[in-house]
Amino acid sequence: MFDAGAFDAHEKVTFFHDAASGLSGIVAVHSTALGPAMGGCRAWNYADSAAALTDALRLSRGMSFKNAVAGLPLGGGKAVIMRNGNAPLSDAVFAAFGDVVQSLGGIYVTAEDVGVSVNNMATVARHTSYVSGLAPSDDAAGIGGDPSPHTALGTFFGIRAAVRARLNRTDLQGLTVAVQGLTVAVQGLGNVGRHLCDYLHRAGAKLIVADINPSSVDYVYSHYDATAVAVSDTLFQNVHVVAPCALGAVFDETSIGKLQAKVVAGAANNQLCTDADGQRLFDAGILYAPDYVINAGGIISCGLEYLKETDPQAVATRVAGIEATLSEIFERSRSTRTPTNVIADAMARESLAAGRLS
Ligand code: NAD
Repeated sequence: MFDAGAFDAHEKVTFFHDAASGLSGIVAVHSTALGPAMGGCRAWNYADSAAALTDALRLSRGMSFKNAVAGLPLGGGKAVIMRNGNAPLSDAVFAAFGDVVQSLGGIYVTAEDVGVSVNNMATVARHTSYVSGLAPSDDAAGIGGDPSPHTALGTFFGIRAAVRARLNRTDLQGLTVAVQGLTVAVQGLGNVGRHLCDYLHRAGAKLIVADINPSSVDYVYSHYDATAVAVSDTLFQNVHVVAPCALGAVFDETSIGKLQAKVVAGAANNQLCTDADGQRLFDAGILYAPDYVINAGGIISCGLEYLKETDPQAVATRVAGIEATLSEIFERSRSTRTPTNVIADAMARESLAAGRLS
């Protein structure tokens, strides 16, 4: 594991197996420098355990960086459950997973991610207190539950910051005007993409959309007057902004060469195939909103839920702060001629280093 390309001085990596339920998986704790390592649990059909390990290592580091740049007192971690087929995972699997999280004593705090629902987390919560992303409760100012609307709102704010920086849209007539009349291509109309379309439509943007699920396209088409395009063409439309909100690893040398938009700002995790693709976007004059900065709304909600925040405005205030954080990254990128992903990584590492010293 120490020789794995994705290993980045992770503090602790735990492999677990429960014969009774069939649970197999990995918890990777990248850093606890800023607080308990928080990050969701992903259930996925991996080709093999090496692929699961790579995913856990990469995703947990991403959570450290995401939480650090979002200014949360939380470290970064991630769990992966290795699925075997597409049958729904049993309650016994999530009960056993809850026991694993509890056994780690609080250095890792879990939540839902791809393939894991709020209901699954409710099962986990019967076995550990180190869990978030549960239904909102009265004693925490209604904070909690589905993080997607917060992720979508933060992404909307990030798009505004990006179009101001790259397309010279001014704020003279109010912030909302920044995207009015612009065309935005949204790839993926799931929990986040659909909410994002709502925000963009209400702000006066024109939408070009695609999803592999036709019913998701129908919904956005009928509610937000969107134009549907083929899934394979979404990113390469002649639009102002491209917002990937489906899968990661969408930008490499080939796809970047086909982009027509000047702004890439979407919620999908791990959009760049490699760090070098950030440089490619920069060289092509395309402003890239680093994924883990623009999509931090969900972890802000889950994090404040776990930290038992009592101010009902706290989530909204921090999600709104994504706009200023991105504006700062864009400005530093412009003034130092450095790709935005490099600036964001440097900001994250600075926060982690400061946390280790304190
Ligand atoms: P989701 O599963 O609800 O939605 C994903 C959508 O993408 C689905 O509708 C799916 O049909 C579609 N899709 C899959 N492959 C596609 C393709 N090739 N082209 C077009 N559409 C495709 O997931 P989500 O919660 O909306 O998350 C979307 C992205 O945002 C993911 O990358 C996720 O990791 C990231 N993200 C989500 C959150 C959150 O709060 N949910 C937070 C941070 C990051």
